[in-house]
Amino acid sequence: MIQLMWSGGVESTSLLKLLLETTNEPIMAHFVRMDYQEDRKTLVEDTVIAHLLPEMTKIRSFKLYKSYVQIADHTVTPADHEILYPFALLTHRAHRCSASYRALCAEDAKNWNLDPIPYHAWRAGLVAPMLKSSETLESVLPFHYTYAWPKSKHLENLGALAELTMSCHNPIRGKPCNHCKKCAERRIAMGVPVRDLIPNPITNHSGPVV
Ligand SMILES: [Zn+2]
Repeated sequence: MIQLMWSGGVESTSLLKLLLETTNEPIMAHFVRMDYQEDRKTLVEDTVIAHLLPEMTKIRSFKLYKSYVQIADHTVTPADHEILYPFALLTHRAHRCSASYRALCAEDAKNWNLDPIPYHAWRAGLVAPMLKSSETLESVLPFHYTYAWPKSKHLENLGALAELTMSCHNPIRGKPCNHCKKCAERRIAMGVPVRDLIPNPITNHSGPVV
């Protein structure tokens, strides 16, 4: 069994498609739903997964595993997203997986001025203290070559399925906001000229607001 942490975004759906097409191993797609106040993204992700599921199943069947996290104080910080690899580790062991993946693209690593290999090593390394003596990071959470793909290559791999994925950090009524960093990355990867990108009215202004 290969485990993939699946969000319904471009990279994880691209990797899921590739694993279904190019391996014979059973696949477990693990979606972690994180609920907190005004959680537009998570609710949209849930819908995106529901729409993608029948399309992905056409390639071959796989197991969909959902975990739910409710953040009771209605706040979320980047640290809350660090639960993804620890969650992956628990289900990796329970289902005796051969490998567990959390998708990535070259642009994600570049945001931290890193190449994909050291960026993945840093993210996966957060669970190093939790490993048993029989486990290594490489055996549990190996680097996958698609982590080094630019987003444009993931989109190309998805083909028509790309339309069903969601990248936006701040969807509005289920639609991409076209203002956030993820929306901009996606549009650039799709070849939209930079001059046609919609500027972010909050962070992209060039001077003080008067
Ligand atoms: Zn957006």
